[in-house]
Amino acid sequence: MTASQPPRRTRSAAGGLLSSSDVGTANRARVLQSLLESGPASRAELARRVNVQRATLSTIVTGLLQAGVLVEEDARPHAGGAGKPARPLSFAPEALLSGAVAVSRGAVETAVVDARGVLPARHRDHLPTTCGRAELERRVLEAAEGVFAAYRGRLRGIGLTVPALCDPEAGVVLSCTAVPGLEGTALPRALATRFDAPVRLEQDVRAFAIGEKWFGQGRGRTDFAALQVDVGVGAGVMLPGHLLEGVRGYTTQLGHTCIDPDGARCSCGLRGCWETVASTRWLRAEAARRGVVGGRGTSPRRLGARAAAGDAGARALLADYADNLAIGMANLVQLLSVRFFIVHGDVVHAGEDFRRLLHERVVARSMPALADGIEVLFSELDQDAGLLGAAATVLSHHLGDTPAPAHDHL
Ligand SMILES: [Zn+2]
Repeated sequence: MTASQPPRRTRSAAGGLLSSSDVGTANRARVLQSLLESGPASRAELARRVNVQRATLSTIVTGLLQAGVLVEEDARPHAGGAGKPARPLSFAPEALLSGAVAVSRGAVETAVVDARGVLPARHRDHLPTTCGRAELERRVLEAAEGVFAAYRGRLRGIGLTVPALCDPEAGVVLSCTAVPGLEGTALPRALATRFDAPVRLEQDVRAFAIGEKWFGQGRGRTDFAALQVDVGVGAGVMLPGHLLEGVRGYTTQLGHTCIDPDGARCSCGLRGCWETVASTRWLRAEAARRGVVGGRGTSPRRLGARAAAGDAGARALLADYADNLAIGMANLVQLLSVRFFIVHGDVVHAGEDFRRLLHERVVARSMPALADGIEVLFSELDQDAGLLGAAATVLSHHLGDTPAPAHDHL
């Protein structure tokens, strides 16, 4: 191409026009996305996955190897035994580093996360829920300083996750009953200034969904729901190509949809929200009311163990709890045809019997035409889910959630 020629343009999936340099950037992003979503691959496999010519793929890969983003693994013979053994490409240690700050009820966790989902640095601090805004910001910035200082200039961005209704695009926390000091916080701007990196604000449970997409059981799936079941209840729903959001880009509040007009008063001020019967707070209160062993001090783990040991009270309570949870999950089935659920939070410690029970109840509460193929899994990300989710919001923004089929050889 000479200087007098206009840049070659091709059409993206969204219908927009891409210049040839945009195509190169898009293809590079798709190579990285493919490695994140589907794991290490040979050049030939990557070229196939990303749908570019081998020569183009080689140029992209060479650049990524030189930049230290990718490494070549040891040669593996082809399945058929013929041809030159392939050397799979994978992410180098500490490639595409993201900062992660996860604020939750009572704690702030901070970490540096690489593209493999490895956390080379992490820290957890107590964060009193009664903190005012200024005190909360001071504590979070201090926690971040301790972890990010050694990585200054190397972070592609920082993901800040909060248990709140927020406007991620504007970086505004609109309402937060769990940690009131977060409302109206200037943390996104303060973190960006302090660490000279772009900051992505995200609701915690939506970040769980993005974390599952890049690092967990959502890998390779286009649509699923990540649920959080703790003292609060919520869902982040991944639909083909994007994360479900409300009008104006607001995060959604599934835990506060009404399932009982005459139900108990919720922490949000409304009555009969799904959360009032689906949170672990309900489980503990109900254990106390029914006189189930452990009472208010019980936990999903203890109840699951008691039920497995034959305690009829624990079994009955967990059966009712599974049904309460299934109401909101089946609403998602009916509303959006979501059929794949990845559950997070304390509830996953209730055990495999409870997971099966929950699956049964979701199927029973779903329209028969939609119930086929419903799966309910417990997340395997465990204690890292919040931090991986926060980092994943950065990766998602960096690479784009919606791969445009940007063919280089049109
Ligand atoms: Zn509510």
